[in-house]
Amino acid sequence: MLVVMHKNASPDEVAKVCALIKEMGLTAHSIPGALRVAIGITGNKEMVDTNRIASMNGVLDIIHVTQPYKLTNREMKAEDTVVSIKEARFGGGNLTVIAGPCAVENEEPYMDVARSVKKYGASMLRGGAFKPRTSPYTFQGLGEEGLKIMAKARAETGLPIVSEAVDTDTFDIVEEYVDMIQIGARNMQNYSLLRRAGRSKKPVLLKRGMSSTIKEFLLAAEYIMSEGNYHIVLCERGIRTFSDYTRFTLDISSIPELKKLTHLPVIADPSHASGKRDMVIPLSRASIAAGADGLIVEVHTDPEQALSDGAQSLTVPMFERMMQEITFITQTIKEHNGKIDKGGDR
Ligand code: PEP
Ligand code: MN
Repeated sequence: MLVVMHKNASPDEVAKVCALIKEMGLTAHSIPGALRVAIGITGNKEMVDTNRIASMNGVLDIIHVTQPYKLTNREMKAEDTVVSIKEARFGGGNLTVIAGPCAVENEEPYMDVARSVKKYGASMLRGGAFKPRTSPYTFQGLGEEGLKIMAKARAETGLPIVSEAVDTDTFDIVEEYVDMIQIGARNMQNYSLLRRAGRSKKPVLLKRGMSSTIKEFLLAAEYIMSEGNYHIVLCERGIRTFSDYTRFTLDISSIPELKKLTHLPVIADPSHASGKRDMVIPLSRASIAAGADGLIVEVHTDPEQALSDGAQSLTVPMFERMMQEITFITQTIKEHNGKIDKGGDR
């Protein structure tokens, strides 16, 4: 349920409505908008006495949100949520790219790749320190040592860092070092981990489960939001299909669908989706053209020697080319839309 406040409702009126909602045993989520404040209500198992709320000063309307995902729903908040991490901005028309190797392997190569991706326009650094590997016998990541290397790269480049928390045991240590916590595809329905991320003050990068529907994906984000963390970036990273020429199938159509259903920013991961380096640039172009707010891509200075996901990692020159191409696509679309808005050429 959503309580829409009058555009000139005072902060005191908003606070009083929130207090009444709490008194009724429910949770109030105040959602400031460009024009007015809305208050999301969650936690209702039975019918809510909306008359009491409707009669409060400053209340304009009460809307029933029909979908099971409430706080993530565009019906709750019409404008795009912009997730800000230092200088990086996800959503609201920005093109934001996260880049770096699959896993942090050694300090010098990590510093090298960090400098290079910064030079060519990355807004954030990625790197796995705790890796969710399919086989228990492959490289599992450097753990805290890896996070320390990432923190060094942040100190030198100024770029914020994102790394995955694979379980609740290691969540605290990841949270301590990073600027954004990644919840991976294999954990998208790990509800205790989602709740823990919801209690964090750090933004969350939530990847779509490889067999998850859009509804399940949005409900996973809802778990995080329902605990009070509203800073979430969604990531389409490919789903399992019968197609056997790529690692997963990048579900391009999920991008416009998600942009329609939710106010949260949506980025794409063409690296894990394809598993193939030569497909990453074309799929990046497609994702941006389809409306993604950005990308997360794997980049390695020497992909042949990478300890994980070398086959899908871009070389630095490829990353440079990808950045030029997606910047060109974004600018072309913006210029075209600008002309249409001004009633120019069509
Ligand atoms: C990753 O980004 O390092 C990763 C393991 O991705 P996913 O969870 O999408 O497989
Ligand atoms: Mn990887």
